Amino acid sequence: MFNFFSIFFYFFLFFPVYSEEVNIYSARHYESDIKIYEKFTKLTGIKVNMISGNAKALEKRIQEEGEDCIADVFIVADAGKLHSAQSKNLFRKLNSEKINRLVPKNFRTEYWFGIAKRARIIYVHKKNTSKKNLIEINYEDLAKQMWHKKVLIRSSNNIYNQSLVASLIENLGYDKAKKWAENLVANMARTPQGNDRSQMLGVASGDAEIAVANTYYFALMLSGKKGKEQQEAAKKLIPIFPNQTNRGTHMNISGAGLLKYSKNTENSIKFLEFLLSKEAQTHIVNNSFEYPIINGVKPHKLIADMGLKFKQDPVDVSTYGKWQSEALKVMIESGWK
Ligand code: FE
Repeated sequence: MFNFFSIFFYFFLFFPVYSEEVNIYSARHYESDIKIYEKFTKLTGIKVNMISGNAKALEKRIQEEGEDCIADVFIVADAGKLHSAQSKNLFRKLNSEKINRLVPKNFRTEYWFGIAKRARIIYVHKKNTSKKNLIEINYEDLAKQMWHKKVLIRSSNNIYNQSLVASLIENLGYDKAKKWAENLVANMARTPQGNDRSQMLGVASGDAEIAVANTYYFALMLSGKKGKEQQEAAKKLIPIFPNQTNRGTHMNISGAGLLKYSKNTENSIKFLEFLLSKEAQTHIVNNSFEYPIINGVKPHKLIADMGLKFKQDPVDVSTYGKWQSEALKVMIESGWK
């Protein structure tokens, strides 16, 4: 029988009252992130509430909710997405000495910072490696005649590709990037379809010879978490880090920012700084297969096995946002579906 007191008892049992909290909108699709939040709560007593969703939808929600937005922190993959939120004036300045000290300058702005890194690289079938000088391949080479109708890459509405093209605009200039995109479209083995893993699967099955995909997807396939078939497919591929004899491989981040109308500012900064702790970084890299953003944390073995000494393009990832609309224009005008 419920009496007045037992109702209170059950209420507090199922809805413990935390006077301290942080509210997060996250576009990261990792169950495992919840474990990091639990660790933070254990450490600080600050409760973490999370609403997850698609980056665009969450961004729109933050905009529409305005001052009433309950979220304190926005977490999203790709510097281009972070820039998008920043350009809509959704963030406030971080002012954290710790974040500035731990995160390399090219992976942060005063409004957001990287919590983990990824490289967007090239994959070929093991049986194809002998015939071309693949060790010295550049992103620029994907547009060469030798890859005619042999390249797999996902669609132009994908932010990872928009950021890659933005980096080419930054590094080569608009006209060269445009020419590159036009020739790349002619080299595509099919109309872009599917996610990053689909591109790798296409090369493994012999539908095409070369694919572009983020490093963590390759490790994810190898891990077996996506099933035996994808694991076997990944084993047939060789990952290659492009542009090693010049500027380095294209890097990107998943990152976080403090929202403009955050009501739990202090707790949020504590939370954001916690994401840069050894404990949180180790958890992230072992579950999402990204690279750590801080020094002194080892990536997952499957990522380490791909090689850790590769040269990274040192370009500031905020330039991806700067060239975002030009990148999209280049892709659309080139006929990149
Ligand atoms: Fe992804």
